[in-house]
Amino acid sequence: MQQYSQSTFTTSNQAYGSHVQQRDYSKSEIQNKGPQNHMNSSMFKRLSQSNVFSPKNQQILQSMVQVSESPMNQSKFKNSSFILGNGLANIGQTCYMNSVLQCLFHLSGGKLMKQIEDQLQNEETFNPLHELIFLLSLTKNICENQIASYDQMCQVKDIVDTYATNFRGTAQQCAHEFFSKIRELIHDCLNRHHLTKSKIKQISNTASNPNSSPLQKAIDKWEQVNSIESSLISDYFRGQYLKIMTCKNYLCKNQTVLCDVFDDIQLHIPTLERRNSYFNIFPQSQDDKLENYLRFEFKDEQLQEVVCDKCKCKGMEIKSNLIRIPKILVLQIVRFDAQNNKKQNKIQIPSKLNISEFIYKSEVPRFKSTEYKLTGLIDHQGETLFRGHYTANILNQQDKSWYQFNDDQVQKLEQNYSSKLEIIGSESAYILFYELNQ
Ligand SMILES: [Zn+2]
Repeated sequence: MQQYSQSTFTTSNQAYGSHVQQRDYSKSEIQNKGPQNHMNSSMFKRLSQSNVFSPKNQQILQSMVQVSESPMNQSKFKNSSFILGNGLANIGQTCYMNSVLQCLFHLSGGKLMKQIEDQLQNEETFNPLHELIFLLSLTKNICENQIASYDQMCQVKDIVDTYATNFRGTAQQCAHEFFSKIRELIHDCLNRHHLTKSKIKQISNTASNPNSSPLQKAIDKWEQVNSIESSLISDYFRGQYLKIMTCKNYLCKNQTVLCDVFDDIQLHIPTLERRNSYFNIFPQSQDDKLENYLRFEFKDEQLQEVVCDKCKCKGMEIKSNLIRIPKILVLQIVRFDAQNNKKQNKIQIPSKLNISEFIYKSEVPRFKSTEYKLTGLIDHQGETLFRGHYTANILNQQDKSWYQFNDDQVQKLEQNYSSKLEIIGSESAYILFYELNQ
C-alpha cells in the first residue's frame, strides 16, 4: 500500500462549541504538500480529451484546477509534520455535505482518498463519474491549502448535484444518506468489473448448492458479489452477514441461510421512554453502551409467524453473525423516527471496539484482528432531521488528537474528548467510523 504523502494542513483558531480548545497553529507546524497539485492540470487535460466533462462542469472544474495550483497557496506554509486540512464554507444548510467530505478526505489517515486519486491518475479509460472523482480530489487539494470559499463550495455543490440528484436544492439533508450516495457513486466509478447486463444476470442467477454448509453458502455469495462489483470502496467498507434461520419443529430443523453483504450497520435505538423495556435483556446500568446496541442488532430472534418451507410449520429462529468484517466499520445510530424527530439518547462510545462476539464462532480464529479504533464521527446537533447542524470530528493519526471540522472552522478538541465519549457519552453522535487494527 502506498504511503500517504505529507500535505498542507492549517486550522483556524476561532473557538467553537464546548469541546473546543483554542490553539494558535504556528506556521512551523504546518507544511505545504509541494508540487503534487500540478498533476491536476494534466489530469484535467486527459479528462477533457476523453469528453468526460459536461460543458458546464468543465468550466467549473477548470477554475478549481487554477485555485488548486495557485502558487500563492503553495507557498503559504512550510516545514510541517502535521496532517489536517482546512474547512469548507457553508453555502446554506450544506453542513451535511461538508461533514461527509471531510470524513472521506481523512478516513484511514487519508490513504483511501490517496488511493482513489492514484486510481484516477492511472486510469486508461474514463466514464462520466470520473468527473465527480476529479471534483472530490480537487476539493481535497484546495482545502489542504486554504478554506474552500463560498464560491468554490457553490461550484462543488453544482457538480455533486449532477450525480447525487436527490440532494439538489438548499434543504438540510441526512448526512448518512449523503455519505452512502457518494460512496456508491465512487464505487460505481471505480468498479473493477465491466460486465454486460446479461453477464451480471447470469452470475446473479447462479444458485449455491442447496446441500452446501452455511459457511460454504456465504463464501459462494461473497465470490458472486465480488465477481460482479468490487472496488477500492468495497475493499474498505464491505462486510458480510451470516444469518441462519432454523425451523423450530424439532423433527424438521430445516435451515435457511441469508448471507448478504453490507456497507454499514444501523443501530436502532429506543425512545427514551421505551428504553427499559427495550433493553430488559441487559443490566440497566449498561443500557447506554454502544456495544449493547450492537448486541441488540445481533440477538437471536424468534419469528413465530414465519412458515417453514419444508414442513409448513409456523415458527423460525434466526441467529445473526458476521462472517466478514470491513477495514472501516461504519455504524449509523438511527436517531430519527418516522416523523424525523430525533432520539437524543446519550450513548457511551468506546474508543476501542472488539466485535469478536458477533463473528460466526468457528470463523473467529481466521481473523488476525477483530478490534477497531474509533477514528471519526459525524455529530448532529438539533431536534429534527431537517433542522440542525452537522460537524465531523476526526482523529488525526499524526498527532493523535481529535479535531472538529465545523464547516469553515477546524478546531482541536479538548484532550479528554475520547474519554468523555466513552464515559459520559454523546447525545449527538450520528455516524461512527471505526477502523480495524491490522
Ligand atoms: Zn420445518
